Amino acid sequence: MNRSLSPFDLQRESNLFQEELQQVQDSEAAVQPSQLRTSDPQWLLIDEGFTLAREHETESLFAIANGYVGNRGSLAEGSPLSAPATFVAGVFEQFDTPGSVPELMVLPDWTGVRIWINREPLSMQQGDVLEHRRILDFRRGILWREWRHRDPAGRITRVVAFRLASLPDRHLLLHSVSLTPENHNSVIRFESSMEADRAVSVLAPEWRARRDSARPNVLPLGLVVPGRDTTVAFGLTSQLLHSAPGAGCRTMRMDPGKIMEHCDIELEAGMQCHLHRIVSVFTSRDGGDPFKRSMDHLADVVPKGIDSAVWAHVSAWESRWKAADIEIEGDESLQRALRFAAYHLISAANPDDGRVSIGARTLSGPGYKGHVFWDTETYMLPFFIFTHPRAARALLEYRYHTLDAARNKALTSGFRGAMYPWESADTGDETTPKAVIAPNGEILKILNGEIEVHVTADIAFAIWQYWQNTGDDDFFLRYGAEIMLETARFWASRGTIENDGLYHIRHVIGPDEYHEDVDDDAYTNLMAAWNLRRGADTAKLLQEHWPERWQDLAAQLQLADAEVSEWQKLAAAMFIAFDSKTLLYEQFTGYFNKEPIDLKRYEPRSAAMDTILGHERIQETNIVKQADVVLATFLLWDELGADVAAANFRYYELRTGHGSSLSPSIHALIAARIGDNERAESYLKQAAEIDLGNNMGNAAAGVHAAALGGLWQAIVFGFAGFETHCDGLSLAPRLLPHWRRLSFPIEWRGRKLHISIEHESVQVDAAGTEPFQLRLEGGSEIIVTPGHEYVAERTESGWASWRMAHPSSKGDL
Ligand code: BGC
Repeated sequence: MNRSLSPFDLQRESNLFQEELQQVQDSEAAVQPSQLRTSDPQWLLIDEGFTLAREHETESLFAIANGYVGNRGSLAEGSPLSAPATFVAGVFEQFDTPGSVPELMVLPDWTGVRIWINREPLSMQQGDVLEHRRILDFRRGILWREWRHRDPAGRITRVVAFRLASLPDRHLLLHSVSLTPENHNSVIRFESSMEADRAVSVLAPEWRARRDSARPNVLPLGLVVPGRDTTVAFGLTSQLLHSAPGAGCRTMRMDPGKIMEHCDIELEAGMQCHLHRIVSVFTSRDGGDPFKRSMDHLADVVPKGIDSAVWAHVSAWESRWKAADIEIEGDESLQRALRFAAYHLISAANPDDGRVSIGARTLSGPGYKGHVFWDTETYMLPFFIFTHPRAARALLEYRYHTLDAARNKALTSGFRGAMYPWESADTGDETTPKAVIAPNGEILKILNGEIEVHVTADIAFAIWQYWQNTGDDDFFLRYGAEIMLETARFWASRGTIENDGLYHIRHVIGPDEYHEDVDDDAYTNLMAAWNLRRGADTAKLLQEHWPERWQDLAAQLQLADAEVSEWQKLAAAMFIAFDSKTLLYEQFTGYFNKEPIDLKRYEPRSAAMDTILGHERIQETNIVKQADVVLATFLLWDELGADVAAANFRYYELRTGHGSSLSPSIHALIAARIGDNERAESYLKQAAEIDLGNNMGNAAAGVHAAALGGLWQAIVFGFAGFETHCDGLSLAPRLLPHWRRLSFPIEWRGRKLHISIEHESVQVDAAGTEPFQLRLEGGSEIIVTPGHEYVAERTESGWASWRMAHPSSKGDL
């Protein structure tokens, strides 16, 4: 069929759409699904059919985002259970009611498109769904929908749609809907609206005036964020491509707080039409006038055509995957889970904005009100450090931009230095709710905001890891060092030297949140001692290598040598309950006397142990919520060693209820490192299924970002045994028997490597400039010269020496 393109016939009195029409013709050949979609099923997540009851969960899993803006994967026309939402990172609203905390604001849904066939709505609730699937293409960062429907009048209509949040142009959102009436000639109407239901849209009248003189084809929607002086501006324009003989008709309506658009077209059976919706979003947090910026943005993007925006997006995703894709041969479902994890992590980070971080449920859902936890630093950050250091730096810059709030929290809590909040939003103030209503109606006080203090050491730990593994001195000098010093200062004020001469930290909650208000929590004390030591190291390094910076910081923080020496002493005096015979840490004072519970007796169980036993009772038992001491043995592996890790894993694993999504991945990691294949495999499977199998039962509120980062860590640090040292890298591979090959790229201190592990051989390709040392467990060391490929083979007596195979075949990694 000859596809002649017709313009919208819109508001004929004004001279609209000239530029858009021109580029509609240019973009005719664009974005055909057959060209655009990845065919390899291991890059796709497919939800076949439609299960209304699972809709919220599906919306989370199929979310699209680019670190700036995110959207749930809701159905365009809605359903009785649809909960569509647009989120913009850092846009939190706060109401003036007692006890309320800032919440990531649910912004209007720009993806809504309702279809009418001869004035009847096309709906899955009416007629027969002949085919329906949502397909998330991880590789290209695109969400597809295919839907073939027979309506009650017997008309069969096919709809194919895709949407994306542009990765290279983070303010740009695209939605394209293609429709074919298979057996009917009908008038088709696309109806789309955006409504700011809760926000105040005081800007609309002013914008209307500006719209008329600026770009009349663009529908603007502006809102003011409750409790903040932030404004958000959306600009929306549409294009229709069709092969119908008549012209289409577009009508637009703009009320305060609501914009609405109708596109009508008469189609004969077999003809196709495509509706492209192009949306730009800016907020006043981005600087400048968000209205003007979104208009200018569309003026720039629209003439270039939707195809150019789509292909730029695809190419940006290709380059992210080149730096991040883990390949596993021999385990298809794990392969998909790893790509699902990396897809959502990549989608969550914005390397260009150091004022925002990643919430526990990313931009895929409202869970935890969008708040940022230690999840980012301890669980997600390693993925970014080793695959996209620029994004890792931006995430840590957020902690620098909120350092004053952390200082204030320390001060108002009676301490010194910087005390980071347990939950954090846009300002960096503590945002943990103070109470929650339990399922039985009881009001439970939430203590975490006051005493789950390990987050401060976790942030310092992450800063050090970032610096050590990237060599980014600029970051360290500008931001990192100050945080290291201020956090050490906090720990020096948080505890007390008691009569036994030891430094005790009392009244805390460790990672195991089932036990509240405990004393001398092993995880907290170990990490605090680490923070105190590294604070002192920071001072020494600055004095030796960057004396000017030291002088500035010492003056600014009023930090004298005596205070720094005190940190060393307190770290040495830290109370740590460690038994050198059993190699066990007591999780906190009195833990070993808690009532022993045999977790096996409760298996199989579908509820968390605190739900089964109740909030009060669980505190009296020895059940641990999540990796706690076990996590410490991983983070401090170099100091504590494999034997200590193994002993504590054997002990605590039996007592851990995995009531948090943060738990299984770390158990998989340690089990792999200590060679316990059976447990490693079982925990890895659990970690992989947290969202994909909804095995915590709460994926509806968004994907579990920490678990996704933990999965990456389990593979790289656990199964590949990848470790970094001051002089180089080492590997201790532990492939599961059914895996044929595990391979992944790594960026480390400016060098780019590709590591490929099989049962009988390991191959390392290196790019970058500086040589480094590479070790293989129980095998040899070699100095790697970048630009070459190295191979080691397994023999009966272990790994044979590395040999340089040939120049790297990977080119520019
Ligand atoms: C976990 C915390 C975690 C939080 C957000 C809680 O259930 O116990 O460790 O930070 O969820 O993911």
